[in-house]
Amino acid sequence: MTDFYAVIGNPIAHSKSPLIHAEFSRQTGQDIRYEAILAPVDAFPATVSSFRARGGKGANVTVPFKLEAHKISTRLTERAQAAQAVNTLVFEPGGIAGDNTDGAGLVRDIRANLKFLIKARRVLLMGAGGAARGVILPLLEHKPQVLAIANRTKQKACELQQLFSRYGNGNIVSAAYADLAGEKFDLVINATSASLRGELPALPAGIFADGSLAYDMMYSDGLTPFLQHAKQQGAARLADGIGMLVEQAAESFLLWRGIRPETAPVIEMLASCTAS
Ligand code: NDP
Repeated sequence: MTDFYAVIGNPIAHSKSPLIHAEFSRQTGQDIRYEAILAPVDAFPATVSSFRARGGKGANVTVPFKLEAHKISTRLTERAQAAQAVNTLVFEPGGIAGDNTDGAGLVRDIRANLKFLIKARRVLLMGAGGAARGVILPLLEHKPQVLAIANRTKQKACELQQLFSRYGNGNIVSAAYADLAGEKFDLVINATSASLRGELPALPAGIFADGSLAYDMMYSDGLTPFLQHAKQQGAARLADGIGMLVEQAAESFLLWRGIRPETAPVIEMLASCTAS
């Protein structure tokens, strides 16, 4: 019997998740149907309830509902609790389990696909919104020498530093972009939404260390403004967020179906779609 899953967001028409999960289903032989659902901004819980009433087994949650998904979850994984944001719902008898697979997706893309070691490296995370929150714990699990969280509104970076300090070993620092002058980082992750509007956070020159990887969670046709800047500034390697998108989806699929799909062919398919 076919099991139903969905991604719920607003807007949602642009979502690549139905395509990704259709590929996973084809590849693994799992009998699932996965749809995109547009929820009115003031009716996320009602949208989840009606999907569940129609036989839904679980859902992905995207902008702007990750905090609300956290609120309606009756059980949270540690990483969702730490992030205070949920992107994967599993409907269980009597409740809803909430998880956050964004960080695991990012770290898997960086380590397994891009073969970049995080351990003992200097990592800069730009941004302090929902996406940044979701990746801090998974990054810390790989023991960077330093995890610097920088944000336009410095106060929010400070709040995240405090929130996650118990998971680090004194290696988390917070900063405004101007504070980073003179510093160098091996891995620079853009978790801001600046690229969506063609903007660039006010990064000082010279922050990319030799051999550094610049990673933008955003993806677009061609290089994002952040990746263009990183290239000009001498970053050795550039990556956009397509790999993270597919890896977080694979992690959700694993939670729902108990099988981890192969991600490489799906990443390759999407990368060639965005490039064309
Ligand atoms: P939020 O709205 O929660 O946070 C936005 C962040 O961007 C804030 O830190 C904000 O700073 C900062 N920001 C926005 N504009 C600028 C600017 N012009 N200069 C400097 N900083 C800026 O968004 P999310 O955290 O949910 O999403 C961030 C990005 O991550 C999006 O592009 C999203 O598409 C992407 N993403 C990708 C995923 C993937 O799988 N590839 C998964 C999840 C997210 P301030 O606090 O000062 O306002």
